[in-house]
Amino acid sequence: MGILDRDIRQETGTAASFLTVDLSALVENYRLLAGRAGTAACAAVVKADAYGLGAGRVAPALAAAGCGHFFVAQVGEGVALRAILGGGPVIGVLNGTTPGSEGACAACDLVPVLNDRAQLRAWRDLASRLGRRLPAILQVDSGMARFGFDPAELSALLDAADAFGGLSLRLVMSHLACADTPDHPANAAQWAAFAAVRARLPQVPASLAASSGIFLGPGFHFDMVRPGAALYGIAPQAGLPNPLRPVVGLRARVMQLRAVPAGRAVGYGHAAVLARDSRLATVAVGYADGFPRSAGAGAGAAWCAGHRLPVVGRVSMDSLVLDATDLPAGAIGPGSLVDLLGPDQDIDALAASAGTIGYEVLTRLGHRFHRSYLGA
Ligand SMILES: *Cc1c(COP(=O)(O)O)cnc(C)c1O
Repeated sequence: MGILDRDIRQETGTAASFLTVDLSALVENYRLLAGRAGTAACAAVVKADAYGLGAGRVAPALAAAGCGHFFVAQVGEGVALRAILGGGPVIGVLNGTTPGSEGACAACDLVPVLNDRAQLRAWRDLASRLGRRLPAILQVDSGMARFGFDPAELSALLDAADAFGGLSLRLVMSHLACADTPDHPANAAQWAAFAAVRARLPQVPASLAASSGIFLGPGFHFDMVRPGAALYGIAPQAGLPNPLRPVVGLRARVMQLRAVPAGRAVGYGHAAVLARDSRLATVAVGYADGFPRSAGAGAGAAWCAGHRLPVVGRVSMDSLVLDATDLPAGAIGPGSLVDLLGPDQDIDALAASAGTIGYEVLTRLGHRFHRSYLGA
């Protein structure tokens, strides 16, 4: 991903593993998603430190590209994001407030998602104490049973006079459980449940789709879409070509190259025994860096010069061992870099080899990498 070995030596000091985040690819992905969303506004979800990529760099790049709406999960993340972005952009808090965090939420001009009566009551109480209207987003559970008002409960609330007094409703939203599977019947069912609620709040803008939902078609776009994962290059639809550009690259140094005879056992638990005379490369990335332990024992791999190097034995905390036997002699040695995320292996491929999803791989990426941001 663009960063040369020479640059790494010059710029990265003591690090042995290197994460690159391509901000131009991120911005291109934002534009592609905003384009797919047509007339709907395109927000950006930057919770969990922009899925591990660094909200301090990701959010300003998106704001500079014209994104005016951001979402985080927690009030604390919103407080930090407000300091990053300054005044102007709207910041929504998906989980809403926890008891006692309402004051900080209002002080930083965050808009909480109200998911239940307790959050609604606390936000209204604060509005009345402050003597001013507070903005709010209303979430309805259209069929995921995670967050939000039950549609019947919301309907009863809307029947009552002044249920949202003191508040200014900025958005009514819901979230899809199965949007990455386009023909899953839950998509149409959730759409219908959401549309019914929306009909009761016709003056309030509506939002249903996250990354995958954008690709379910214009009917799912309503007034705003809320992609996260797709911005960072994760494929929005399982089994279909990924229209997004890769944003993340991960490379690590080979620390040792050793010739090990057939019959030898490798790594913790002696979980692997070599079937042939092998050349093994020990690489400076382990599960403490977020490389999934479940990608050990041949399930996962790194890449070098177009060759797949399978992981041999268990992934350790700070290292893993690769089978480099099939590489041409001299193609790899101590100091060489191998790709863990790169042109031959994207986030979804690494995740699949570990039995997990790209979201988990991204958000677990550790803090020992040298990080560089390209195209800033
Ligand atoms: C995380 C989240 C999103 C973003 O989802 P992606 O699949 O990453 O695009 C949008 N809305 C809600 C409610 C979320 O929790």
